[in-house]
This record gives sequence, C-alpha cells and structure tokens, in this order.
Amino acid sequence: MRLELGNCGNDDRQASASLTVSRRQLLNRAIIAAVGGLAVLGIASPALAKMTQQAAGYQTSPKNDQKCSGCALFKAPSTCIMIDGTISPDGWCRVFTKKSS
Ligand code: SF4
Repeated sequence: MRLELGNCGNDDRQASASLTVSRRQLLNRAIIAAVGGLAVLGIASPALAKMTQQAAGYQTSPKNDQKCSGCALFKAPSTCIMIDGTISPDGWCRVFTKKSS
C-alpha cells in the first residue's frame, strides 16, 4: 500500500520517520485487535499467540522513556498478552505499544 504525503513543509526524512511510526502503530494495533478478538471468541489460547522474548527483542530494562508498565499489552504484575514468560514492568521489547491516554 502506498500512502501519499502532501507537502507540509517537512523534509523527506522527517515525513518518512513519521510514516514509519504510523505504520508500526497501525500494525501493533492490528495485532492487539486480532489477539484480543481471538481470545474473546475462545478460539486461540494465549500460549499460541505469544512470541518468545528473544523473537521480540525483550530486555529487562527500559528503552529511552518506553517500558512495559507504559505498554498497552502489559498485564500487571508480570505478564504480557503478546510476549511469553515473566515480564518486568521496567522491561521493553520491539512490540512496545504506548498506552493511550
Ligand atoms: S513492551 Fe513488549 S514485553 Fe513489554 S508489555 Fe509491551 S509488548 Fe509486552
């Protein structure tokens, strides 16, 4: 899919970075909706839907200002709906999806 960007005064690099973040957020939201929908319907076990920590690039420390406790996929006290295993509230992975405020 190609998205056209209008001339809004930004240089191409800024527009590209913005578009990349938007695509990531869109993908993450689609994943959340799909996993949540399957779980609600009872046709997918959480274990089948989860990625390994290694595949997600999980680490036990935050990345910049992002950490699991601020992620929409985190389930306190120490689990995640997308990533398998024990998850630290201070951890982070590439699937990080900021909680909506
Ligand atoms: S950052 Fe990754 S491991 Fe942490 S809650 Fe979000 S999706 Fe799960």
